[in-house]
Amino acid sequence: MQTHFSPAQLADPHLASLEKILRSCVHCGFCTATCPTYVLRGDERDSPRGRIYLIKDMLETGRAAGEDDVWPIDHCLSCNSCMTTCPSGVDYRRLIDHARVHVEETGKRPPVERALRGALVALVSSRRLFRLSMVGARVARPFRAALKRVPGYGARLEAMLRLAPTQLPPRDATEGPGTFAATAPKRGRVALLVGCVQSVVRPQINAATIRVANALGYDVVLAKGEECCGSLAHHMGHEATGHAQARRTIDAWMAEVEGAGLDAIVISASGCGATIKDYAAMLADDPVYAPKAQKIAALAKDVNEFLLPHDFAPVRKSKKVIAYQSPCSLQHAQRLADAPRNLLRKVGFAVRDIPEGHLCCGSAGVYNILQPETGDGLRMRKLAAISKVKPDMIATANVGCLTQLALESKIPIAHAVEYVDWACGGAAPFEGMG
Ligand code: SF4
Ligand code: SF4
Repeated sequence: MQTHFSPAQLADPHLASLEKILRSCVHCGFCTATCPTYVLRGDERDSPRGRIYLIKDMLETGRAAGEDDVWPIDHCLSCNSCMTTCPSGVDYRRLIDHARVHVEETGKRPPVERALRGALVALVSSRRLFRLSMVGARVARPFRAALKRVPGYGARLEAMLRLAPTQLPPRDATEGPGTFAATAPKRGRVALLVGCVQSVVRPQINAATIRVANALGYDVVLAKGEECCGSLAHHMGHEATGHAQARRTIDAWMAEVEGAGLDAIVISASGCGATIKDYAAMLADDPVYAPKAQKIAALAKDVNEFLLPHDFAPVRKSKKVIAYQSPCSLQHAQRLADAPRNLLRKVGFAVRDIPEGHLCCGSAGVYNILQPETGDGLRMRKLAAISKVKPDMIATANVGCLTQLALESKIPIAHAVEYVDWACGGAAPFEGMG
């Protein structure tokens, strides 16, 4: 793609690196075929290629984001499906990350919209506030129909209440801090990301991860001072907040690295994993944190990636068929499309792939709240694709996808590690597993 930056602009190393990415796009349009928003609407402005042109124009002119710039950027799921497809290796993720920050800093959003986005960042990245907001959702739920009629924001308020679980599991030791000792001859020590939303709505996922890792001989540490990994703030263009959260979590893990040592940092929410593995790039310009970020990113492992090389001794076998729903943050961002399905097969499950497996389920952080129409459309499309392989149960690897699909799925759904745990003698994710 031809660009028209001035020498003065290109003296800025950040702008120069973005210009290099823009030039790598040959506008072939292959990416449009696998972009969920383009597949749904067929609008070039709602495609990767359209967004790249838009970002190029904003960067070249240095202009503030106008209304026509904001919506295509906000409509992008950051699913990275376009990056998997692109034959030229265009690093779209850097472009959209930059565009989101630019929109937040220069775009004109109505004050209510700005407040809603700020509130979501605060609520979703704090376990305490998120738990509190679930109490608020319970109180507000009876007024769902009335709230849906609020001009401009009704659909989002309704989506928020719909997605909020009606009941929360009780708090347990998996919220940390603490250490769970290996239950087999010791072979190492790992930290587990406790996380924010997942540890409140589905603590069973971390509990299963701890049991399986302990049984393989790993001490599992839930580091003191660990906070939100910064993923949600980062993906909403709240750069300073996301980076501050990342730095605090890096500090918590570095204390463990420099103390008793860590063999890995295990992450059971693939959305968080994608961000943590990107810490080195996120904090590359920070002279104090860049080396630490590199160290933490190198230690980060998705739970499926971490477990897969090990030998297991399953004690239970299920005759039921699993459909595996691959989260975008695992298949496109972390390039681990096969790890969960291979792990499930390794412990004895029959796993079927689903059609259109590359398309997002519409969860994408808080996208299903901010863009409920597209989020709902993608959920129904994903559930229809899953039903085609006639599974008895669904496996995924990210709590966002799990919550998004469970909302309307008649087929039970769990994280892959919960199935692995059950096969190895742990808790059943739901009744009727045998
Ligand atoms: S596939 Fe890659 S090179 Fe082709 S238009 Fe999309 S981003 Fe550009
Ligand atoms: S990240 Fe996903 S939604 Fe955004 S342009 Fe790429 S494929 Fe489309």
